[in-house]
Parts: sequence; structure tokens; C-alpha cells
Amino acid sequence: MLSIWSSRPRYLHMALFFMAYVLGCGFAQALAIVPGITVSIWPPGGVFMATLILTSPYSWPWWILVGCMAEMFAQYVWFHSPPVAGFLIYVGNALCAIVGAMLVRRACGRAVRLETLQEVLAFVVLGAGVAPLVSATVGSATLAWFGVKSQTFAAVWPLFWIGDATGILLVAPLALVVIRSRAPLFAPQWFEASVLGLIFLGVAALALGGYLSSPYIIMPPLLWVAVRFEFKGAAVALTLLALIAMALTMSGDSQFVGDPESQRQQQVMLQLFLVISAFSALIVAAISRQHQLAVLTLRQSVEALRDRELELSQLVNMVPSHVWRLTPEGVPTFFNKRMVDFLGLDVADTERPGMGRLEAVLQTIHPDDAAGFGAALRGCLATGESFAMRYRLRSANGDYRWMSSRAEPMRNAQGTIVQWNIICVDIDDEVRSQEKLRLAHESLARASQAASLAELSASIAHEVNQPLAAIVANSSACYRWLSADPVNVGRAKMTTERIVRDANSAADVVSRIRALFRQSVEQRNSIVLSSAIAEAHNLLADEAARRRIRIDINVESNLPAVSVDRVQIQQVLVNLIRNGMEAMDSVTGHDGVLRVRVFRVGDQVQTEISDRGRGVEFPDRIFEPFFTTKEHGMGMGLAICRSIIESHGGRLWAQNNEPVGATFICTLPVATNAAQ
Ligand code: ADP
Repeated sequence: MLSIWSSRPRYLHMALFFMAYVLGCGFAQALAIVPGITVSIWPPGGVFMATLILTSPYSWPWWILVGCMAEMFAQYVWFHSPPVAGFLIYVGNALCAIVGAMLVRRACGRAVRLETLQEVLAFVVLGAGVAPLVSATVGSATLAWFGVKSQTFAAVWPLFWIGDATGILLVAPLALVVIRSRAPLFAPQWFEASVLGLIFLGVAALALGGYLSSPYIIMPPLLWVAVRFEFKGAAVALTLLALIAMALTMSGDSQFVGDPESQRQQQVMLQLFLVISAFSALIVAAISRQHQLAVLTLRQSVEALRDRELELSQLVNMVPSHVWRLTPEGVPTFFNKRMVDFLGLDVADTERPGMGRLEAVLQTIHPDDAAGFGAALRGCLATGESFAMRYRLRSANGDYRWMSSRAEPMRNAQGTIVQWNIICVDIDDEVRSQEKLRLAHESLARASQAASLAELSASIAHEVNQPLAAIVANSSACYRWLSADPVNVGRAKMTTERIVRDANSAADVVSRIRALFRQSVEQRNSIVLSSAIAEAHNLLADEAARRRIRIDINVESNLPAVSVDRVQIQQVLVNLIRNGMEAMDSVTGHDGVLRVRVFRVGDQVQTEISDRGRGVEFPDRIFEPFFTTKEHGMGMGLAICRSIIESHGGRLWAQNNEPVGATFICTLPVATNAAQ
């Protein structure tokens, strides 16, 4: 109840509805030309139904009330039926409008605009065909019951039904279409509408006035209007047609006004004429609308396709590569913009007398690569396999640039090749930087060869230097013993033996290095490390004595043998012990003992040489070649030691002692039986 009250239409609208209803009744009265029968075309039915279709069902009670007032007013003014009969006739009319509005709304399922054939058919069949059955039945029964002008049910019913149907067909579309769709007619159409309107009015006046043989001559202009201006045009034209019919009927000039006997038939003919006109115009308007929509959709699709094509071609032109297409036979059909700019020629320019288009393209390839490229491409065209190749392509300014090309066939649903797509990427910068890198590698390799040579020379010098220094020292000692008075032959002999031993040691080093150069197999023997340590100790005994350092050797009993190159291992031990003694030289206040410990750890024999020197300052770097902190050092000793130990499958590293000194630790694998 509340929502009915809150859905009250505006008074202005209700007033307009009242006026339209009353005017419609007046129109019906004007056309009621059959003697003794009060019914004719009933426009208020169209006004009523269109109103209910357009408004919310909650507001319907208001329209029904206003409609009732309008009809009772019209009954009083024009039809003069008894009030109860007038009211009952109105009940029939209201039911007709309600049933029609409900059926049409349900069939269309959304805001009714009469824009599709389905909507128009629903309106014509349900709204104009089915709904008036109610009003015709109720109205005819009422007239017969009350005996208004002695009308019988059977005589009135058909006229009532067709009259209501005509009214609905003529007026409802005008209300629905014109009120609902607010799109204006635009200027170019106004001219056409005016010309067409004049023609329509002229033909309508002549046809309905009886000057032309048949009123249906109006059909061509009416359908023309429907085709060109769709529902709007059809609704306006139908209203005009009805008004002209009314005016001519009232003035007695209408073709449908005849002698009193034939008047009933004339009335039916007029109603049929209007029904057929309305039906045809509305159906044609619906078909035209649908056609327009289809054309519009097609146009939109074509435009969308064109946009898409444009987008794609922009994309193809934007990609930073050359893209070209070939027919399955290998005839170029498309170059993208980048390719055209690069080559300075488009597909059309490859058309040359006595030469295929592909040959013209091959001419832009470097002479060294063209034959290979052509053969590979033709092979792919024949086999349908994809193709990838690098080659040099000539640009418009004559420079060649390296390209990497890839061709892929495009197949249709049946698997037949329909075209070849080739993408061609400029890799010139990459190729040139690769070339530069290769040259850099080569020069680096040469440089490192030179460095290795320098390293090797330094290492030879270092290793030979030590025994030579010892030989020089022992030679001067020997000279002194021989120059002494009396000559100390015993000492001189001992010194000479040392000289011989050092000289042999130097010779051994040299022969090892020569063996290394000859890539000879190392001479490895299975020895117990204690013997090599003892020899190293012997070698350095004098030097240690001179430095006032005692070498304390501690070898674990039952030490397993190791498989080593004796001379090389001696070299390592001498180096490590001498480094330790040198480190202790620079430090005072120590106990003057350099400890050498040898023991077994798992399957390794570990040797630790601990000094009481200043410790290792740069533990990460001391094994690098040429790293030295000594004034006359060469920095090669530890590098050589580590490479010797590692070549024996062992490890060599250094750690600082607490509180002073450093320990150099080397491990060597225990000799296996096979090695022994
Ligand atoms: P060099 O003896 O010619 O300097 P090495 O390769 O034998 O070359 O030694 C490299 C460096 O390692 C030495 O200059 C020294 O700084 C450091 N070093 C080697 N042994 C010891 C050690 N026992 N105590 C402290 N530093 C050492």
C-alpha cells in the first residue's frame, strides 16, 4: 500500500494521460459512423496500454483511477451510455490494458522499445490481438445487457475487438517509441523526412478521399517511411494516417463513408485498412531496424578488423628486426618497414627483367654467403623444414652487416604451407664484439704464455741459486782451510765433499726441469719421509749453525712410506726450513729452536715445520708466485713448494702459532702397496 502511495505519478503526467484518454475517446466518437452502433476505432486503448507498459505496476492503480475518470467523462459527454454500463465498459478496457501490458512485458523481458522483430510480434499478437478479446467481450456483453441502442453481442463484438486492436496498433507504438527513444532525427534526415512527409500526406489524402482507386496505394510511402525512419517514422505516419482518416470521415469525404446500408461494412474495411497498415509498417520497421543493426555490427566488425590489421602492421614494422614473407614457391611478397629502410628497396623493386624476385633479394647478400643462403633457402622451400642461418646483408649505403635469419613455414588447417615468414635480426655488433673478444683471448693467451715462461725462468734461477750459493760458501771455506798454516786437509776434504754434493743437487734440479720440459714421467720412489728430512737437515746444518738455530726433528716411529720424487720433496723441505730460519733471524729473544714434526694422520703423512719468527703477515698471498716481503726475495719458493706437494696428491698450507711464529704444514698420501 505504501509503495502504491509512494509510486504516485506526477500530477502533470496524470493530467496529460487524462487529456490523451479523453481526446482518444473524441476520436473514437468521430469515427463511429455505423448507424446504431456506438463502437469504432478505440485510441484510448493504445494510450492506456502504452502507459502501463512504460510505468511501474505499483503506479498502475493511479492510471486505472485516472483512466476511469476520463472514460466516465467521455461517456457522459459523447456516448451517453448509462453510468453503470459506461463503468462496466471501462472495466473491460482497463482489463485489456492490464492484460496486454503484462503479456508484452513478460514476452519482451526487458524495457519494451519495439526495436526487434520479436518485440514487435509480441506487441502485435499479444498486445493488439489477445488483450482486446477481454475488452471486446466485456464491452459487447455490457452494451447488449443494457440494450444500448439495441446493439446485440454478436453484432458488436467483432467491431469492438477490431476497433480496440486498431487503436492499440495506432497509438501504443507512438507512445512507446517516441517517449522512450530520445535520439533526435539529425539534420540530413530532416530534409528527407519533410519530403517524405509531404508525399505521404498527399497520397494519404488522395487515397482515403477516394481520388485513387484503392486506399492501399498509401502502402509504398508508408513502408518507405518505415524502412528509412524505422519505428519513429512508422508510429508518426500511422498517427497521421489515422488523423486523416478521422478528418475525412468526419467531413464525409472519406472513401470509407458510404450509404447507411453499407456503412457497417465500410467501418470494418476502415478498421482493417488501419490494422493492415499498422501491422505492415511496424513489421517492416522492425526488419529495417534489425537490418540496420546487422549493418552496424558488420561495419563495427570491419572497422575492428581494420584497426587490428593496422595494429599488427605497426607491430611488424616496429619490431627491431627485418620481417619478410615469401609465397610457398619462394616469391617475396612483403618486407617490413625496417627491412625496406635497410635495403633501400621494397618488394616492388625486386621485380627486375630476366630475374626472379628471390634472386634480386639474394643479390643483396654478401657474395661469399649468397650461394649458401640461396641453397639453404631453396632446400627449405622444397622440404618444408624451417631454416636458420647467419650471413652478411648489404645495406642501402653499401655496408655489409651480419644478420641472423630464421624462416618458418605457416601452414593451413590441412597442413599445407601457405606462406613462409622470415625474421632477420641484425647481429653485426654482437659478431664484431665476439671477434674482439676472441682477439683479446688470443693476446691474453700469448701474454700468459710469456708470464709462465718468466715464472719458469725465475723458478729455475731460484732452485739453482741455492746450491750455487752453498757451493760458493763451501769453496771459500775450502780455500781458507787450504790456505791455513798448517793446511787443514781434513776440513778441506769435508768441505770439498759438500761442494760436490751441492753441485750434484744443482745438477739434479736442472735435470728435473729438463725432464719437465720433455714431459718425462716423474721418478717417484717409495721412501720413508724421515730420510728425506734428515738429508734436508744435513744440507742446512751449516746455515743453521751460522744462524744459531737448532733444528729439532721429531719423527713418529713406524712412519708409513710415501711415494715421492725425492729431490722435489727435499727441495720443499729445504725451502720451508730455510724460510723458517730466515723468519727467526729477524726476531730476537726466541729459544732458537725450529721444530720439524712428522706423523701419520689417517692415510696421510703430515709434516709440520714450526718456527719462532714473526708469523705470516699475508697468509692468503704467500703462495702466489712472486709474492715476497723480503728485500732480495723472489717470491717463488712457496709457489713451487705448493705445486710440488699438490702434484703428489698432498696439501700445503700455513698457520700462525700462539704466541709467536708460524707453522707450515704439508701432507702427503701414504704409499699404497701397488705404488710401493
Ligand atoms: P721468498 O722467500 O723469496 O720471499 P717464498 O715464496 O719462499 O719467497 O716466501 C714468500 C713470502 O712468504 C715471504 O716473502 C715471507 O713474507 C712469507 N714467509 C714464508 N715463510 C715464512 C715464515 N716461516 N714466517 C713468516 N713469513 C714467511
